[in-house]
Amino acid sequence: MDAPSLPRPRLGQLGQLGRSSAPGATAEAPPRPRATLVPNAELSGREEIAPDVARLFVRPDGPVPAFQPGQYFSLGLTLDARAVLRPYSTASRKGAGDTLEFLVRRVPSGTFTPHLWQLSVGERLWIGPPKGLFTLRPADSRTHLLISAGTGIAPFISMLPELVAGEPDSPRNARPRVVLAHGVSYQQELAYRARLETLTARHPEFVYAPTVSRPGAPQNAGWSGRAGRVEAILPSIWGELALDPGDSVAYLCGNPDIVESSRDALLRLGMPAGAIVRENYWAAPARPG
Ligand SMILES: Cc1cc2nc3c(=O)[nH]c(=O)nc-3n(C[C@H](O)[C@H](O)[C@H](O)COP(=O)(O)OP(=O)(O)OC[C@H]3O[C@@H](n4cnc5c(N)ncnc54)[C@H](O)[C@@H]3O)c2cc1C
Repeated sequence: MDAPSLPRPRLGQLGQLGRSSAPGATAEAPPRPRATLVPNAELSGREEIAPDVARLFVRPDGPVPAFQPGQYFSLGLTLDARAVLRPYSTASRKGAGDTLEFLVRRVPSGTFTPHLWQLSVGERLWIGPPKGLFTLRPADSRTHLLISAGTGIAPFISMLPELVAGEPDSPRNARPRVVLAHGVSYQQELAYRARLETLTARHPEFVYAPTVSRPGAPQNAGWSGRAGRVEAILPSIWGELALDPGDSVAYLCGNPDIVESSRDALLRLGMPAGAIVRENYWAAPARPG
């Protein structure tokens, strides 16, 4: 991304909400202040990868704050005089320039994403500070299973440089075996597929396992890879790679129904519950019992 021509303000405002009064307020009826957002970033790029799925690039006004791969940032817009924020896992690698990348699905009935989709490149929005504990454990040499549904692949794209292409002297030099399973409905939604296929060809310790859940759909014509939801392919991956439940750690991210089903599958394969880390993108379904 281009370097700014003028010094930009530090991101001291990152994460601050502005306060404003509703117009037309009277002294008798003081308005309840409504939170509005002071935009502190611009949408600097976007790439549609499938209907309703896009890579979005957001450039904060100041430096990108330090973050850990796996963390999320809230993006915000003022809609109908109210601040509306939603969290998004960044796909950016640590220390990557002045821009953050996100992989976002538009939810047509949603409150925020239809408005986010209306934003043109160059328009302003708000971004908060990095948050979240869905991060890699230091110097963890166990086999890493990264299991994602839909846009839940984003944090793993951020983590992969740490796991697969570690610096020679980094504490991760042990280079654990890494399996990235990605489940989508339609093959077009396999974001980062070309990059991941290249990575798996270059690094024998990295296995990329994409799967489509609707193999019979016209959009999946020509698909000859794995079929079924991502939790359904876990037992076959497990067998093919002869994984050791006592020497593996699993990170699960995305649609909570799939996250919970994947967790159940891993428990059945013998993984201890403590070795399974989850990031649900919305409230998990109520479970019987
Ligand atoms: C920690 C965290 C990280 C997240 N990271 C991402 C991300 O990287 N990319 C991303 O697309 N979303 C991500 N989300 C979800 C995101 O915050 C919003 O919930 C989503 O964009 C919908 O917002 P909305 O206002 O349009 O829909 P809302 O009006 O808030 O409706 C929410 C409903 O939309 C559906 N929904 C929400 N997210 C998705 C999705 N990704 N795919 C399909 N259906 C969905 C669910 O049914 C949910 O109940 C993340 C959520 C959390 C908690």
